[in-house]
Amino acid sequence: MGFDLEKIKKEYRLRYDHHTHTIYSRVGPYFHGKGRIIDNVRAAAKRGLESLAITDHGPSDFYGLDPRKTPQMRREIAAALLSFPKLKVYLGVEADIVDTPNGLDVPPEDFAKYDFVNAGYHYVPKCHMLHNFVAFRMPWPKKLKEKLRLRNTERIIKALRNNDINILTHPGDKAYIDEHAVAKACEETGTLVEINARHKHPDVRDLKIYKKYDINFVISSDAHRPKHVGRYAESLALALEAGIDPARIVNIEKR
Ligand SMILES: [Zn+2]
Ligand SMILES: [Zn+2]
Repeated sequence: MGFDLEKIKKEYRLRYDHHTHTIYSRVGPYFHGKGRIIDNVRAAAKRGLESLAITDHGPSDFYGLDPRKTPQMRREIAAALLSFPKLKVYLGVEADIVDTPNGLDVPPEDFAKYDFVNAGYHYVPKCHMLHNFVAFRMPWPKKLKEKLRLRNTERIIKALRNNDINILTHPGDKAYIDEHAVAKACEETGTLVEINARHKHPDVRDLKIYKKYDINFVISSDAHRPKHVGRYAESLALALEAGIDPARIVNIEKR
């Protein structure tokens, strides 16, 4: 990578991080997200962010949040803000793109529980989980891969068209997709395409496709630990390498 991360940090700042996880992403005694809400809030304030979103995994994920706990999550956010009154904190969710009537594991009637809904592809039931898991890691017959790519793409487009989705998280990670078709759907629905600091996709090749469409981008840390909240320099370097104008990244600002 030809970009100096320290130089990037000096030149640009991240205004907000709207994709972070906490211990509400858990299964039984196993915590998928390692920090509490207050820990992410404190980290965001320390990094000088204007706002933060707590977006734990959708309920069909093995370590998905329990939607009945959203009132408790809101209480924790309110309590955390007493110490950091300048920060704005949203409660969102990272819904899974699955085979349900609206295409997400967050049904329309649950949208009101959150300030916004992000959505992404994960290995969960009702998403060709096994096929995607294998095809993404091992040699797989080309014909089958193409079929899977088509199905994954259809699912994403359906979810985008049927729901008001804020951010499409890490498109192309965990499952093959047709980036052109997904980009067109994001353009049509005004959905932000995420440049994710944690996952391998979208990579520079993918971003060169997305930039051809009339879409905007957002950088997220996808932090699963408080220390990663607000990470952005690596993602911005990818965007610059792909030739994306930083003005198209909605949460990046020149210092
Ligand atoms: Zn994700
Ligand atoms: Zn995530």
